[in-house]
Parts: sequence; structure tokens; C-alpha cells
Amino acid sequence: MPRKFGQHFLRDQAVLQRIAAAACPETEPLVIEIGPGRGALTRPLLSRCEKLIAIEVDPEMVLHLERQMAGEERFSVRHQDVLKVDLREFAPCVIAGNLPYYISSPIASLVFAAAGAWKRAVFLVQKEVAMRMAAQQGSRDYGYLSVMTQVHATATILFTVPPSAFSPPPKVDSAVILLEPKVVDAEYARRFLQFASRSFLHKRKMLRNNLSAFYGKANLEAQPEATLRAEQLSIAQLEALFARLSSLGPMLS
Ligand code: SAM
Repeated sequence: MPRKFGQHFLRDQAVLQRIAAAACPETEPLVIEIGPGRGALTRPLLSRCEKLIAIEVDPEMVLHLERQMAGEERFSVRHQDVLKVDLREFAPCVIAGNLPYYISSPIASLVFAAAGAWKRAVFLVQKEVAMRMAAQQGSRDYGYLSVMTQVHATATILFTVPPSAFSPPPKVDSAVILLEPKVVDAEYARRFLQFASRSFLHKRKMLRNNLSAFYGKANLEAQPEATLRAEQLSIAQLEALFARLSSLGPMLS
């Protein structure tokens, strides 16, 4: 069985149906499927939407799908690295996929960069990644990925999936995560997430150590959160600190 491109194919029909139902509780006009592989999830999705465009990097899978789905006019496959796709071209759409785990975080960034283009996203990812995406402050999974995710979306872990549901089985547990977009100003999100990534850069360091270079030591020392670590602050608290520091002037770099 090939393992290139993070290929672990779903074979549990109940899991496939549950993912498709979560992505399309009602008939959707357009679904974008990331990493269709041999089409295990493609068929259940297609039965719940009017049109499906799949994006697949592996030429063998693309050929296989083109043969399998020949004559199905509601389906098309693009042979492309999804990370090079601007998902905004598909607006409005639903996005779904059993993601290649080695690039699930970059795919999440890509999806968030297309804010406004998608109305729902449902992904099967490594369970640990799903937990980090949905984590709240106080959980050991909480970090930059949680902040990036929750600035853009409400994240809900729907159910977990054991390795036995796949062929070949991955070494880790998996989970299905539902992302429902929040309305967010793109420029604000970009600036706040730059601040958040700097805040979390050295997770064990105090905020004053991570941020002084960007806002000045004296400005940081004046903040009540200066001696806390980023992981001790909720997203709302991080946003409050960002607003206060931003009001002092632009970041130094
Ligand atoms: N959806 C199928 C299933 O559930 O059986 C396959 C899922 S498999 C975990 C991930 C799929 O993503 C593979 O088909 C792989 O070739 C594809 N893939 C990996 N990297 C990709 C990339 N950069 N762009 C598009 N597809 C990619």
C-alpha cells in the first residue's frame, strides 16, 4: 500500500457516511474535497451535493478517479497541490476531506485565508491536531493553532476515528472536526495572528520576553500580563492585550 502523500484510505462506510452528513446536512450546491484519493469519501459527498470538485496531488489517484467517475458530470478532479490553490475561487462552497496529516495545519491556514468563501468545513485529521484546534485556554492542547482556528471559526470535534477504519492504518487516532466560519476582518485577523504567533513563539517564556522586541521593554513591563505566558491567556485576553499594545503605536518590526 502506498504511504506517499500521507495516504491512509478510509474504508469504514459508517465513518464515511457520518463525515459526508456532517459536511452536507442538506444538499449543498458545491463541495470542494481536499485529497480524494481513490474516492472513498467522494461518493458519499457527491450523493449529498449538486457539484463536487476534488483537488488531488497524486497523478495515479487522479487517473483512477477520472476512470471511476467517468460520465459523472457533477464531478471533476483537479490535479494540483492544494496548498497552491486559492480556495476563494470556489466561493460559496463547503470544504471537506480526509486530510493528508503531514500538511493538515498548512491546509487549515489555507482554508482560513479563504474566509468568506466557505460556509462549513469538515475535516478528518490526526486527533491531536483536532484537539489543538478546538482547545480552550487552560487545556494543555491550547496554543497558536487553537488561536488561529478560533479567530476564524467555531471548532467542534464531532467524533474520533480509530486506526482500524483506514487502510493502511495510521499510527495515531483521528478525529472529525467541524469548522463554522466567524465573520472576521481579514486585516485585523492577520495583524492579531502575527501578534499571537509572536506571543506563543517560545511557549514557556513570559510574554514580556516574547514581545519586548516588537513593542519595547517599557511598554511590555507596564502590562499586567507581562509576566504571564501566552498559554495562560484566553483568546479574548490576548485580543485585549493586543488592542492595548497596538494603541501605543505600530509594532517595531
Ligand atoms: N479521501 C481519501 C480517503 O479517505 O480514502 C484519501 C485520504 S488520504 C489521508 C489523503 C489524500 O490527500 C491522498 O489521496 C493524497 O494523495 C492527497 N494529498 C496529499 N497531499 C496533497 C496535496 N498537497 N494536495 C492535494 N492532495 C494531497
